[in-house]
Amino acid sequence: MVERINSCRVCQNRDIKEILNLGEQPLANSLVTDPGEREMLYPLSLSRCPECSLIQLNQTVEPGELFSSYVWVTSTSSTARVHASRLYKDIVTRVQNLKASYVLEVASNDGTFLKPFAENGYKVLGVDPAKNIAEMANAGGIPTICRFFGAKVADEIVSENGRAKVVMARNVIPHVANLHDFTEGLANSLAEDGILVVEFHYAKVIYEGLHYDSIYHEHLCYYTLKSVEKLLNQSGLYIIDIQESPISGGSLILYAGKIRGNTSAAVQSYHDAEIATGINELSSWESFAKRVFEHREQLLEMLTGIVKKSGRVVGYGASARSSTLLNFGNIDTRYISIIADQNPLKHHHYTAGTHIPITSPDEALRQRPACVFVLAWNFADEIIGILKQRYNFKGQCILPLPNNPRVVNVA
Ligand SMILES: [Zn+2]
Repeated sequence: MVERINSCRVCQNRDIKEILNLGEQPLANSLVTDPGEREMLYPLSLSRCPECSLIQLNQTVEPGELFSSYVWVTSTSSTARVHASRLYKDIVTRVQNLKASYVLEVASNDGTFLKPFAENGYKVLGVDPAKNIAEMANAGGIPTICRFFGAKVADEIVSENGRAKVVMARNVIPHVANLHDFTEGLANSLAEDGILVVEFHYAKVIYEGLHYDSIYHEHLCYYTLKSVEKLLNQSGLYIIDIQESPISGGSLILYAGKIRGNTSAAVQSYHDAEIATGINELSSWESFAKRVFEHREQLLEMLTGIVKKSGRVVGYGASARSSTLLNFGNIDTRYISIIADQNPLKHHHYTAGTHIPITSPDEALRQRPACVFVLAWNFADEIIGILKQRYNFKGQCILPLPNNPRVVNVA
């Protein structure tokens, strides 16, 4: 069920070097219904490839184990809905005659990002491996195939629908174990003059903001522009343009196509910035690992002080990302009494490994906490807004990241 890699996931170089070990951890999305349950733990560690600079997990957990019943639903975040609408507007300006073709999205989740296209009369098709989520998308009017995407599924889609002028792959390339089969599928399903839109959490932002909470078993690869370009080029896909995504606390949106040489100035400036910051160097990631252990000490010291003074705190956002932070710091119900989450699918569950109960924001805030630990800190503005406006919350908020943990007073 878990395998250790012996070569780089992108370039197959066999000489990869371990840079960070986060110990044994449960699967981040494996929320439990019984707090007495002892779930499986799997090693969680990162290596770097000296050849293509890819930062990658050493372990691959069987994908069926990870994704078959995914509980995270995209549209529960209002930030995601705003992003979907902006991305739609941007994509339609880049493609000629899109109404004659269709928009294909792989790992389309509940169809949030296809929805603006469908609402404006464009033909859409989603592919997602999670049964409950694909059903939800179909019920919401977004046609969605429930499969793991790869070269074979791409061929089936093409024989039925032809090649798509727009192929979207948001927040999925970091998850894929069979990477080359996946990018072959992307290339095969894309029209010759079409554009591929790839979004992923940028390793440079992970490094600069110390986003080690984004390291969990589902995220196999942590791409820089250098490493993702190497991957796409191997399947005959060439980067045209780059934008920053407004969500996930720092993601990149790449536009790629099959024709080489249409590169914007933005792409070159990202390459230059990667060289200037040393993001593809080993020493940078060695210092990242050191900062991760220092951060854990700081966070525990801060939490211990607050709990001593004002009692246990309430968490906000039982995201997959929070799992690494909680398990690595061994932060459990001694510190956090309950976690609020807007996704009703997560209520009446307990966090993986640390077994903190998850409930609705209404119920959690009824406890009148003096302090809220914003676990989904990448949505901090949205969450603090909800705390103030809906719950008239006055007190402290802990923002664990980016970089040093800090406390903000909400009045
Ligand atoms: Zn490599």
